[in-house]
Order: sequence, then C-alpha cells, then structure tokens
Amino acid sequence: MNWAFVGASTIASQHMMNAVRQQAGNEVTWIVSNSPDRVKVWAKEHNVANATTSLEDAISDPEVGAVYISSTNEKHHAQAMAAIAAKKHVLCEKPLGMTLQEATEMVRAANAARVTFGTNHHLRCSGSHRAIRKLIAQGRVGKVLSLRIHHAVHLPDHLQGWRINSADSGGGVIPDIVVHDADVTRFLLQEDPATVVAQMTSSGMGQGVEDSCMSVWTMPSGAMVMTHESFTHPFAGSSLEVHGTQGSIFANGVMTQRPVGAITLVTEVGREEIAFPDHSLYVMGVSEFVAATEGHGRPAADGPDGVKSLSVALSVREAAKTGQRVEVDYGGF
Ligand code: NDP
Repeated sequence: MNWAFVGASTIASQHMMNAVRQQAGNEVTWIVSNSPDRVKVWAKEHNVANATTSLEDAISDPEVGAVYISSTNEKHHAQAMAAIAAKKHVLCEKPLGMTLQEATEMVRAANAARVTFGTNHHLRCSGSHRAIRKLIAQGRVGKVLSLRIHHAVHLPDHLQGWRINSADSGGGVIPDIVVHDADVTRFLLQEDPATVVAQMTSSGMGQGVEDSCMSVWTMPSGAMVMTHESFTHPFAGSSLEVHGTQGSIFANGVMTQRPVGAITLVTEVGREEIAFPDHSLYVMGVSEFVAATEGHGRPAADGPDGVKSLSVALSVREAAKTGQRVEVDYGGF
C-alpha cells in the first residue's frame, strides 16, 4: 500500500517513516507540508518520490491507499476529513482534533466511507503495556483498586515550539500527554473514566498553555486513577503502577516511545520480574493498522479510542479551568 504523509514532522521523521517501510509492500510516496522549502528538503532526506504543499495532489493519487496525519493538532480535522472524502484509510496522530465535535465527525465520516481509521496511540502497542494488561486480565492483582501514572518528562529543546506557546495549534501538556495517559488507562482497565478532577499550571515552560497537570479520575468499577503529566521535569522518570486486592504491578520507565523499562509484580508469594517483548511500538501500530485495512482485526487504537481518550483529556482541562468535578462526555461513543 502506498502512503501519503501529511506533516513534515518530527514523529514522522523519527519513527513513522521507518514503521511504514518495515511493512512488506508498503511505501511512503507523498509528503505534504505547508512549506515549499521544507517539503523538498524533507522528501530528499527521506527518499520520498513526491513532495507537495497541496493535500489535494496527494489524496487524488489513485495509487495512494492510506494517509498518515502528523501535522499540528488544529490541522488534523480538516486533513482527515479530506482524506476520508477521497476514500483513503487514515491513521491520525493524537489528539484527533481540538474538540470532541471534530473528533466525532472524523470517526463518523470514516465509518460512513467504510475506510479504516486508526489513532496513533503508541503506548498500547508496547510489549510492556500489553504484558501489564495481560497480568490484570489474568487476575494476577485481583480486583483493581487504583492506577497511578507518573508521566512528567522534560520536553526536548527541539520540541519546545508550538507545544509550549500556541494554544491555537493545540499546545499544552493536556492534549499532548494526558491524552496518552487516558488511552493507557482505558487500554489497561478496559473501561472508560467516568468523572475527573484536576489542577494545571505553567511551571516555567508553558507560555499561554499549561505545561503541568495532575488529575484524579473515577472509573465505573470503583477503581481510582491518579495521573501527573509535565514538560518540565528533567529527572523524574516515568512509572505506572496498578494496585489490586491480590497484588501490585510496578512498571518503571514504560511511559516512553521506546521498548524499554521494567515490570515487577508483587503478591503475597513475593516479587516477580515480568519479561516482555521489545518490538518497536510504532512498527507494531502500523502493522496492526495495515492488517485492519486488509480486513484482519482492528487498528491498535481505532477511531472511538481516539475520541474517548481525547474526551478524557478535554474533561481534565475543563476540570482544571473550572475547579469543578467534570463528568466525561464521550459524544455518543
Ligand atoms: P513537529 O513540531 O515536529 O511538527 C509539526 C509540524 O510543524 C509539521 O507538520 C511542520 O509543518 C511543522 N514543522 C516541523 N519542523 C519545523 C521547522 N523546523 N520549522 C517550522 N515548522 C516546522 O511535531 P511533532 O512531530 O512533535 O508532532 C506532530 C503530531 O504528532 C502532533 O499531533 C503530536 O501530538 C503527534 N505526536 C504523536 C506522538 C506519538 O507517539 N503518537 C509523538 C509525538 C508527536 P508542515 O508539515 O506544514 O511542514
């Protein structure tokens, strides 16, 4: 399958070009950017045959089967709607859109057009998160009581652009990282948060957008979730803990783009180190997306997953703004 990449972005460059090219018979044949200069340089650097500033050029190519969207967040909706209208399968970066309405429109349009729609939530593709989900599903921790996510990182210099200074482009740690943590929680616990309370702040990096957030979510099962996301913490590391009536899971260093970290299960029997596969998260995600376009299975995170994880993030921001507890609205999904 031939792909058009929309967005001459870091994630496309560092992970997604390789992830597509790792799939037998798949190639990236178009790169679309708003900058005539950057798009030429990008195409040359990555050996992509066609470079354009016109999305229409790429999606009108009948040889293109799939479109991967990794532009800044405010562009996702219009670009996805155009690709869907052209009957292309769409793999879109998180957050799907700026609002719940944008995201639901995209997913409903993809369903109506009968194209495959995936959301690029990479963490649920990792061997570590899949191993944790299996432990929970096997009842190794008993009834889940709580989940804690520590995802406070230091945004690298080269990413300190629109993410920290442009609300209009979808900047802020909530659309950037809380949305991932929402997806991880939903993936691991197999249920959707019901209500959230939250606080956010700018602690030195964010200019007009939040760079740090802490929130607490309730789950329909009665489990509680606590998350901390930030762009400003150079030495905090990341971790994920799941605590249940029969055991606890401690996963260190697993909130990342790389297949690293360590998982320990602690029960009355003692401590057990849990092994997990170290495949690339992005190669796995694209592989499951490609299989779905061929009628096998579903994307690792599909359209409704993207909508719901965005809904949680938007509710967290609303709760932090108003100081009120917010019931998460899933827009009918
Ligand atoms: P970048 O800032 O690298 O790229 C976003 C856009 O900014 C590009 O599409 C490009 O616009 C423009 N741009 C890129 N480099 C430059 C430059 N040197 N000068 C001026 N403009 C530039 O964003 P990311 O790759 O970090 O993020 C892109 C999307 O992917 C976001 O939606 C983000 O949330 C998501 N993301 C997802 C991740 C995941 O693991 N799922 C990880 C990281 C990001 P143009 O295309 O018009 O040239």
